[in-house]
Amino acid sequence: MKIAKVLCMVGGSGETSYAANSKLQEKAILMARPMLKEAVGEIYRNLLPEKMVVADLGCSSGPNTFAVLSEVIKMVSNQCQGVGQQVPEIQFFLNDLPNNDFNSIFQSLDHVDQTLTAEKDTISVPHFVVGLPGSFYGRLFPRQSVHFFHSSYSITWISQVPKEIEDNRNGMPLNKGNIYIGRTSPPVVVQLYQEQFHRDFSHFLKLRFDELVPCGQMLLSFTVRNKKGILDGEQSTIFGIVTDSLDSMVREGIIEEEKLDTFNLPFYAPSTEEVVAIVTLQGLFEIISFKTFVSNFDPFDDLDDHAEFDNVQSGTNCAKVMRSVLEPMIACHFGSAIVDDLFSRFAINVAKHLLKEKLKIFVLCLSLKRK
Ligand code: SAH
Repeated sequence: MKIAKVLCMVGGSGETSYAANSKLQEKAILMARPMLKEAVGEIYRNLLPEKMVVADLGCSSGPNTFAVLSEVIKMVSNQCQGVGQQVPEIQFFLNDLPNNDFNSIFQSLDHVDQTLTAEKDTISVPHFVVGLPGSFYGRLFPRQSVHFFHSSYSITWISQVPKEIEDNRNGMPLNKGNIYIGRTSPPVVVQLYQEQFHRDFSHFLKLRFDELVPCGQMLLSFTVRNKKGILDGEQSTIFGIVTDSLDSMVREGIIEEEKLDTFNLPFYAPSTEEVVAIVTLQGLFEIISFKTFVSNFDPFDDLDDHAEFDNVQSGTNCAKVMRSVLEPMIACHFGSAIVDDLFSRFAINVAKHLLKEKLKIFVLCLSLKRK
């Protein structure tokens, strides 16, 4: 499976689109806002660039793409007012894989400009936005040309499903009956996923080191695993419910068993400790700060765990989040005919699970400075 061909969120602005269902991911942007402010402020004060180059890696399309863009512009504007310096020009790169719905972004850019112009107390910052299709596991920029990288909810997508898992040697699927690390995954599957992430993340850091100006900064937010055990990490539980939903369709003869056995997600949720260890070992970046926060997987459920809630509605909300992320990959592997059925089952299975415990997502926000 070529990731660049199949990995993308649901485009457009329809009911099942990522744009209409990315409130969960928006929370990470809101939580990281103080760190974004710190980073942009420090770059501005230390480097006083006349031209500031900023890139959002894995921008997708929809309100979150614009939230990052306008936050950075507003923060630079505030800094200029504080320091009384000349306003820099910002070159903003929005990066994602080629299948991303860049057209939707371009069609809405005017709206962002109008909103920014209407903001009180914001001096106008000349900015130029371009789309940059390509994988962030390859070089995207000339050497030492970027001041700030932002990336949210993106780098847990690894560059490929580990080859040995995909190769499916001797007709024996290595990760039979699972689509990610699951309770029945053998230890070698865990190890292969872990090694793939370590290679990818180290490579990502090296590439960004080359592209950043000295003392340039990077703010990365992504889901992490909070539980110690890898097999029952939060993401394993959530993807395990997708697996159960697919499995019920196999048992009813709607999906071939072999199809399920050969579907694996190019995804890995590390623990915070793993991430810190990789950054430290590599030694190219100083960790300025990091924090983790937790939210319910249902983005509309901000209730206390013991408060009464509507588990059926919550199951439906979770299914919308999941569908907006997985639909293109599922449709590519299993065919688009199964999509409605799969996510209806997922909604019901989540609703049942929620009676036992809520599904949680832990997010790590990590602020790094190039040495
Ligand atoms: N940053 C947005 C979108 C997150 S969804 C938000 O916070 O809401 C994750 C995005 O990362 C998807 O659009 C996906 O296509 C993109 N992505 C995953 N792997 C990528 C890669 N190797 N290179 C570029 N983009 C990638």
